[in-house]
Amino acid sequence: MVRGIYIHIPFCNTKCPYCDFMSFVSDNPKLINDYVETVLTELEFHMEHNYRFYIETVYFGGGTPSVLEPWQIVKIIEFIKENINHQKDLEITVECNPETYRYEAFKILKDAGVNRISIGNQSFLEKNLETLGRKHKPKDTFEMIESAVKAGIRNINVDMIYAIPGQSFNDLKEDLEIYTSLPVTHISAYMLTAYEGTQFGNLIDNNIISLPDEDTSSKMFLMVDEFLEEKGFKRYEVSNWAKDGFSCRHNLLYWTHGEFLGVGVSAWSFVENRRFGNERNFENYMEKVKNGKLPVAFEEYIDRNEYIKERIFLGLRLRNGVEIDILNKKKVEELLKNGYAEKENGRLILTRKGVLVINEIVRYLLN
Ligand code: SF4
Repeated sequence: MVRGIYIHIPFCNTKCPYCDFMSFVSDNPKLINDYVETVLTELEFHMEHNYRFYIETVYFGGGTPSVLEPWQIVKIIEFIKENINHQKDLEITVECNPETYRYEAFKILKDAGVNRISIGNQSFLEKNLETLGRKHKPKDTFEMIESAVKAGIRNINVDMIYAIPGQSFNDLKEDLEIYTSLPVTHISAYMLTAYEGTQFGNLIDNNIISLPDEDTSSKMFLMVDEFLEEKGFKRYEVSNWAKDGFSCRHNLLYWTHGEFLGVGVSAWSFVENRRFGNERNFENYMEKVKNGKLPVAFEEYIDRNEYIKERIFLGLRLRNGVEIDILNKKKVEELLKNGYAEKENGRLILTRKGVLVINEIVRYLLN
């Protein structure tokens, strides 16, 4: 049963130096509108399949979905609501960049059913924003939150990046204090990663900038986790904290093997044990759909073995953990003995110490 729909919007106002998402700079209204129409056509193609739909979540991600005019987002939502079997209580999220939508736009989105926004803020300290190559100012995010709340959208995530070059523990504390003073329900906090092929990746390879060492980054994670938990944001996934009842239902689908359909350039889907990905090249994507073809460029079937492996590595990311029954008993005992994990209701749950070395634990359990 397909329970979620992800719509990828690849346009951004600027390209951030650390970003490895499929996104590019464009404010060309014709190109953007053409893309929206192509996404709708792709959705129509999917309707012709006999997938069983009962949609609980719709997520507009990117890129920067708030580069679109609000009515373009509404058009996609209306198509989904009119053509696809869905729950009454849909979670509809739109990712927004701080300098884009304000009250009028949020009012239009709210009336169409958008009830959650996710703001790509990253930091409230100007020096961090500058290092990250972000063009917005802290006041843009304050204004965005205020106007969303005024329009009736109260489920708000704000993204945060930490372990930034030059960031001190005091800077991090100052940032956390601002984040937790805001009327938001969810904070996604990511350790900065320098992906290969990004501008940051190249600067690091050439020793022009450097990231904090592993020990500092780990201590920063502990600081983020302790601070947010103390302020009532519970960690339910390694990079996500939420107030009670505000975990992101869409992202939980990904981590619990729920079926979802991804639409748009480079979007991924998981339906009926089949994982498939759309063309990553924008022109190829547009051309395929316009020629009446599904834009799928890659697919694989997930067999029982692979499914169990994924259950383990996805489950360990979650506060809820993974069923001990599917794990090697001896290895579980080792993890418990060394304080990397705890047992709760037949599930193995990583401790903070375990979260810090999650990749090593996954490899240990899977080998
Ligand atoms: S706004 Fe987001 S998607 Fe766009 S370039 Fe920056 S990090 Fe990447």
